[in-house]
Amino acid sequence: MKYISTRGNSPALSFSDILLGGLAPDGGLYMPKSYPQLGNPELKAMRGMDYRDLAFAVLSLFMDDIPAEDLRDIIDKTYTSEIFGFACEGQSSDDITPVFMLEKNLHLLSLSNGPTLAFKDMAMQLLGNLFEYVLAKRGETTNILGATSGDTGSSAEYAMRGKKGIRVFMLSPKGKMSRFQTAQMYSLKDKNIFNIAVNGVFDDCQDIVKAVSNDAKFKKAYKIGAVNSINWARVAAQVVYYFKGYFAVTKNNGEQVDFAVPSGNFGNVCAGHVARMMGLPIRHLVVATNENDVLDEFFKTGVYRPRDSAHTFHTSSPSMDISKASNFERFVFDLVGHDAAKMRELWGSVDIGGEFDLEGLMKKVAAYGFVSGSSNHEDRMKTIRDTYEKYGVAIDPHTADGLKVALEQLDPNVPMLVLETALPLKFEDAIKEALDVVPGRPKSLQGLEKLPQRCEVMDVDAEAVKKFIVSHT
Ligand SMILES: *Cc1c(COP(=O)(O)O)cnc(C)c1O
Repeated sequence: MKYISTRGNSPALSFSDILLGGLAPDGGLYMPKSYPQLGNPELKAMRGMDYRDLAFAVLSLFMDDIPAEDLRDIIDKTYTSEIFGFACEGQSSDDITPVFMLEKNLHLLSLSNGPTLAFKDMAMQLLGNLFEYVLAKRGETTNILGATSGDTGSSAEYAMRGKKGIRVFMLSPKGKMSRFQTAQMYSLKDKNIFNIAVNGVFDDCQDIVKAVSNDAKFKKAYKIGAVNSINWARVAAQVVYYFKGYFAVTKNNGEQVDFAVPSGNFGNVCAGHVARMMGLPIRHLVVATNENDVLDEFFKTGVYRPRDSAHTFHTSSPSMDISKASNFERFVFDLVGHDAAKMRELWGSVDIGGEFDLEGLMKKVAAYGFVSGSSNHEDRMKTIRDTYEKYGVAIDPHTADGLKVALEQLDPNVPMLVLETALPLKFEDAIKEALDVVPGRPKSLQGLEKLPQRCEVMDVDAEAVKKFIVSHT
């Protein structure tokens, strides 16, 4: 399997060569040259596999330069009930990403039972083990530099803690994350994890990461790496649970299903697109946004119009508060038939704050199965309340965004799987507002906010961050 850049000006590389980096050198995103195709015989063999076997069946197609037995070990130590069995605590269930039926043909696919209680763990835990493996094989080390507004940072830190050859320097906006998220990150004691609280907002943190990464000499000397959502391995890891969800709610491979996906950077739903392109019988991919509706606008009009930070709203589903959807470039690459010149033209304008209009291709967009919708704070509160009253289930505000749009798109004859992307206890304030109760916690998380916290406070200053990295490597 060779990987090519969406902008067409980077050499084709194998999986291990694109694993550690972020963007391709030409500024594009890596994509497999073509998607592996699975027909009925393959799907038949996969039905009935447990999560680890399924993960191996899917991921060995994309990660084909890692020897099969090594990949098998990496997968087996990642997708265990110890790491992903949160919902099953006290029970011995080994069902990774269990499906929960709300009613006939309406299901939740539970993706947030990992260490940080958000779906990002599904890919990040694998990434931690893949990084450690490839670095050891090459005798290399890396310093991961990232910025987070909440879920990505904690997910990356819990995936990389204690890993050999890896240090994590994570920037977060001081005082802007939820108390739970802050405690999750700042209470870590691992020697290879460094939290830097920046006196600024998330965009300031992001700008520092860009400034440091743009210093090519520094980047090379200090082996700066990234784990952001454009990392191809993260997308690939997420493909697996679409297969899992499909098999869980169908009886034979002639049946179609719909998936509804709470979306921000388009990483999660991009994996659904890949699964569909590989031959998984998906009818609709329902893209659900919050008030930050860049994607909903595109799927309704064909206009892609990223917002500036003044027009990026802080909402009660904060992990979807994005101004532009980085992974969206991957879908458009397929949409324009891998025309790299066209991609350079489209993103030439996006990269300088512009927009583009693909209205002429909307029939083709629909043929890929995409539909969309958005919700606001009132919708989320109502959906959380309704779901609790009707089914006795508490869902988090992001999952509520997904369910709200799923209900608008529901076909009573087609199973709909709503991707549950976080657990409600991570967003206590929103749940308290909607239900007037505080979600319960397992013993292991009680008192989390009272643990001693440790972080380095800094101003918005890329040079200071560089100095900190230098003195801690
Ligand atoms: C990151 C995140 C999302 C958005 O996922 P994308 O892959 O960026 O589209 C949705 N919900 C939660 C809880 C998240 O952490």
